[in-house]
Amino acid sequence: MRYHDAFAANQSAPAMHCPFCAANDTKVIDSRLVAEGDQVRRRRECVACGERFTTFETAELVMPRLIKQDGSRQPFDEEKLRAGMQRALEKRPVSVERLEEAIARIKQQLRATGEREVKSLVLGELVMTELSKLDEVAYIRFASVYRRFQDLNEFREEIERLAREPSKSR
Ligand SMILES: [Zn+2]
Repeated sequence: MRYHDAFAANQSAPAMHCPFCAANDTKVIDSRLVAEGDQVRRRRECVACGERFTTFETAELVMPRLIKQDGSRQPFDEEKLRAGMQRALEKRPVSVERLEEAIARIKQQLRATGEREVKSLVLGELVMTELSKLDEVAYIRFASVYRRFQDLNEFREEIERLAREPSKSR
């Protein structure tokens, strides 16, 4: 199998034509962030002719859509993400800079999936991971709403687990 490279910057992710046979159906076989996370480099394989090629897609174009639990799709909404995290962080000693870094990491990880659509649960888990690094109280606030802790025992276990871990909030 020969490898070909085709530079296709700024082409939108959804309709990626094969540069060899112009088929619409290509699949992503590898995906990684380049240019400090501003671009995604993807190896694609044409389903029709089997040729492989590389695309560089800009970050804005490749944020996956979110699949909600009822099956509906929503575009990724950065403002909504920020608002949710700010709510959890209200009156907590976490700087705007650290919040913005966390948001940037969440976006990078969503892009790095290389998927056009991801379950909204994936985003929720990413947010919880980042909040647990920023501030334990904010994490508990978010998680208690997000996961709707089944019962008090589960909630208590989570608090005890956090209490055992060395603090990562400073
Ligand atoms: Zn092809």
